[in-house]
Amino acid sequence: MELKKISYSKDKGKYLLKGTNTAYINTIRRMIANRLPVMAIDKITFIENGSALYDEFLANRIGLIPLTTDLETYVEPENCKCKGEGCARCQLKLNLNVTGPCTVYAEDIKSTDPKVQPAYPKLPIVKLLEGQNLKFEAIAILGRGKDHAKFCAGYAYYQGYPTIKIKIGNPKDLKLAVEQCPKNILKVDGNKLKVTDVEKCDLCKACGEITDSISVEGSKKDFIFTIESWGQLPVKEIFTQALVVFDEELDALDKEVKKLK
Ligand SMILES: [Zn+2]
Repeated sequence: MELKKISYSKDKGKYLLKGTNTAYINTIRRMIANRLPVMAIDKITFIENGSALYDEFLANRIGLIPLTTDLETYVEPENCKCKGEGCARCQLKLNLNVTGPCTVYAEDIKSTDPKVQPAYPKLPIVKLLEGQNLKFEAIAILGRGKDHAKFCAGYAYYQGYPTIKIKIGNPKDLKLAVEQCPKNILKVDGNKLKVTDVEKCDLCKACGEITDSISVEGSKKDFIFTIESWGQLPVKEIFTQALVVFDEELDALDKEVKKLK
């Protein structure tokens, strides 16, 4: 197996993973979607809510605000020494107290831990009119996407590495194919058709529908793997954590298998 970085930012990483198969890469994708621990608000107590929205509506919205996650300090409540009762290792207290007129943003939520903050400060929560108050106390915990979408760390997807084969064809068809490509990666060069950036091809095969001179295929063993973070963890940490979780699940299975007689 071979891994190469195609492009990377904190929120989106694109990798080339060679020499594997769909079952394997799909397992990593599912780990990212369902199994990684990330922070989110799980309990909320409204002390005042003068806004136009119901408590339940606001609670759902606030729960979905991505919080930057520190996996070194916190543990999940069920794995904590306090046995789920709640302590500083498994819970973080946050609060908000705002009076209108104004728009309440995610940044108005005050966290007691500087490492755990709303990932997007300008995410709007609700609009308050003159004299309306919003005051609440909340508790954030680590959770996993399999339990609730608010604990989902990001979005991961893959496609086979594209191979675009071009035989010399009718120049008119080739020009049409260039216009048809939604990714703008085809170019007529003299009487030939060239691919400018094969890694941008998303296998839509629109060019192949214009002319038989072009065929597009996705590899069954080399993949372009993309990870988009929702903001709680940087892309690289999502990738490494997915492997940590994968490893833990295999260890758990290993223990069960060894118990068998
Ligand atoms: Zn605890």
